Amino acid sequence: MTEIAKELLSRFLPTDEGVASNELKVAVVGGGPAGLLLTWKLLNAGHTVTVFEKRKAYQLNEAPDSRSYNLTADGLGLRAFGRLGNLIYCAGIIVDGRAIHSPSGSLWTHPYGHRAADHLVSIPRGDLLALLAATIIGHRKCNLCFDCDVRDADVYKGTVRWKKNATQLEEELEGLDLIAFADGVRGLGQQKAKSQPGTNSVCETEDTPYLNLTISKEAVTQARLELNKIHFFPAEESLGIGLPNFDGTISLLIEGRIHKNHREEAICPFTGRVPFSFYKQVFDKPEQADGYLQRQNPKLAEILQDFSDQVLNVRPGHFIESFITNWRVGPLGILLGDAGSCAPPWAGFGMNLACSHAADLAELIGQFHDLQTALEQYNKRRQKCTDVVKGIIKAHGALLNSGIGSRKWRREQALRDRREQVFGERSEYQIVAFEERGLEDLAGLE
Ligand SMILES: Cc1cc2nc3c(=O)[nH]c(=O)nc-3n(C[C@H](O)[C@H](O)[C@H](O)COP(=O)(O)OP(=O)(O)OC[C@H]3O[C@@H](n4cnc5c(N)ncnc54)[C@H](O)[C@@H]3O)c2cc1C
Repeated sequence: MTEIAKELLSRFLPTDEGVASNELKVAVVGGGPAGLLLTWKLLNAGHTVTVFEKRKAYQLNEAPDSRSYNLTADGLGLRAFGRLGNLIYCAGIIVDGRAIHSPSGSLWTHPYGHRAADHLVSIPRGDLLALLAATIIGHRKCNLCFDCDVRDADVYKGTVRWKKNATQLEEELEGLDLIAFADGVRGLGQQKAKSQPGTNSVCETEDTPYLNLTISKEAVTQARLELNKIHFFPAEESLGIGLPNFDGTISLLIEGRIHKNHREEAICPFTGRVPFSFYKQVFDKPEQADGYLQRQNPKLAEILQDFSDQVLNVRPGHFIESFITNWRVGPLGILLGDAGSCAPPWAGFGMNLACSHAADLAELIGQFHDLQTALEQYNKRRQKCTDVVKGIIKAHGALLNSGIGSRKWRREQALRDRREQVFGERSEYQIVAFEERGLEDLAGLE
C-alpha cells in the first residue's frame, strides 16, 4: 500500500480512544456487513472483539461468496455507517434514481427523492467487506479470524467453539460477555434462537432464486444505460435489477419467483421444468437460455447478447425471506442483521437494515451500563422495527421495486410513476430511507 493510501485508510480506523467503563469481551459470529460494522463500533468504544468468519480473507472486487452481487447503501445504511460511510462513497457509485425498462420497450425514470442528498450508493460486496475488514485488522483489541467456522456456542456460559477450516482443528473461546450472531439467514444464531423454548420464533416464506450476471462495459455503452441509475427490467416471471459499477459495467441480478403446480411441486421459474431444484443448473442449451430472455424482456435480451454464455450450466443462487420474533438468544446471545430479519431482495432493505441493527446495538451498549438492559432494549426495538418492515413490504414493497412484473403491476407502476412525477409523491420506503422521522421509526425508536 502506498503511504498516501495508508494515511487515508488510517483516518477510518477505530479511534481506540474509547475506554468503556464496562469493557466487554465480545465474539462476533460472521464477518458480513453487520458483523464487521458492529466490530468497528465496539472497538471504537474500547471493547475487545473476536470475529469468526468461515470464508477466506476478503479482497477488492471479490467476495469469496456466491452472493457476490453489488450492495446499495441508502440513507438508512449510510447513517448506520457513520463516518465509515465516506469509504462507501469512495468505493461506490452514486445512483440517483430508477430507470425502468418495460417489456414493451418503453423506458421511464424517476429520482429517488426530492433533495440532492436523496441517493443510493452502489458498491460491490467484496469491496465493502474488504474495506471494512481493513479498518479493523491489526487493531490491538481485535482478532479477525478468517477461515474459521463456528460450530457451536454456549449462550449461558459464554463460550464459542470453532474450527479452522485449513487444519480442521477445533478450539474454544471462553469468558465471553456477549455473542453476537451476525451469521446470516439460516445460520447457527437463527437455529439457536428458533430452538429456544417458548419463543416460537421464525416465520419463513418462499425462497427467491436468482441468476447473477454482468452487463459488459461495451454493452452498457451501446445500450446507453445511464450509470447513475439503478436499472429495472420487469417481466412476467422475472425481474432484472442492474446496479452500476465503478468500471462502467453493470451487475445484474435476474430474480425469478417459484410457482407450484397442483401436486405442490416447484416449477422452475427460468425454464418451467418440474420439479425445480436449487442444486441443479438452470439452462443447458444456449437456445433455451436466449429464448427465455427474449420472452421475458426483449430489451434485456438485446442488451445481454452473451446471456447464454453467462448462464449455461450455472446453478441459481437463492434469497430467503425470514423474520424472527425474538432477537435474544439466551442471556448472552443476540441476533444481528439477516440472522434476525431478511427482507426479500426487491424490498430494498438488505444490508441497510442489517447495518442499522449493528449501529443500534453498539449505541445501546454504550448508553446502558448494564448489558442485559441494552440487549432487552435492542430486542424490543428490533421487534417493533420488524413490524414496520413487514408493513412496508406488504403495502408498498412490491410496488416499489418490482412486484415481479405482472401486467397488473406494470400498469399500476406506470400510473404511480406518472403520479409521482406530477405530484411529487414518494413511496413509503423512500420516506423511511431518506427522512429522519422515517429512520427513527425504522430503528424502532419511540
Ligand atoms: C445476491 C444478493 C444481492 C443483494 N443485493 C442487495 C442490495 O442491492 N442492497 C442491499 O442493501 N442488500 C442486498 N442484499 C442483501 C445483503 O447482502 C444482506 O442483507 C446483507 O449482506 C446482510 O448482512 P449480514 O452481515 O447480516 O449477513 P451476511 O452478509 O449474510 O453475512 C453473514 C456472514 O456470516 C458468515 N458465517 C455464517 N455462518 C458462519 C459460521 N458458522 N461461522 C463463521 N462465519 C459464518 C458468512 O460466511 C457471512 O460472511 C443482497 C443479497 C444477495 C444474496
